[in-house]
Amino acid sequence: MGLDALLSRLEGHAVTPVTAAETADVTAKPAPALVCTLVTPVTAPADVTARAALWLLHFPNLDPVAVVFAPAVDHAGALASYPAAIAAEPIPEPPAVPVPADLAALFDACAKAGLYDDADRTALPAMLALDADGTRGLIEAMHARIGRCRRCKHFRRPGLSDGHCTGRDDLPHVYGFMHALPDDGGARCGAFDG
Ligand code: SF4
Repeated sequence: MGLDALLSRLEGHAVTPVTAAETADVTAKPAPALVCTLVTPVTAPADVTARAALWLLHFPNLDPVAVVFAPAVDHAGALASYPAAIAAEPIPEPPAVPVPADLAALFDACAKAGLYDDADRTALPAMLALDADGTRGLIEAMHARIGRCRRCKHFRRPGLSDGHCTGRDDLPHVYGFMHALPDDGGARCGAFDG
């Protein structure tokens, strides 16, 4: 369903499963090469000022995508976050789904590592209600990012040091070709090489 595409796209763009209301630079996923979905005309909701956490976004040549916003946004806010969207419809919130204990533990570990925030926690029940398997997969993938430096080919631990990075020049220089490790332990590093 639509959320699968959203989850995949968000994973590629950010470390949060939640669409922040103020996000303005997220672009629509490119259209699949072999699929051409007819665009269904959609009218704007009667009350465009009403806020909702769930919106169905319509894009040219894409299936509609369900998006969870935290905090909730109005019609203009939903479209502003996705400039490529041509229409947005609010979706009734599904019944809240309890967060399984194991998934909550993974989420908490990610939050402790700075990978999720309160907005993500707020959106989690709705995301589980929309797509439990997709949400679990995203959180598991996020959790796997914790401590990536120590699993990276660019990680070196000379002498008694806690370790250095040899792959990024933008980090503070230590000596030789060694650089200090990032504060997030590589969780958000685009140069990770496992
Ligand atoms: S900062 Fe990035 S490149 Fe350097 S060791 Fe950590 S994950 Fe690897």
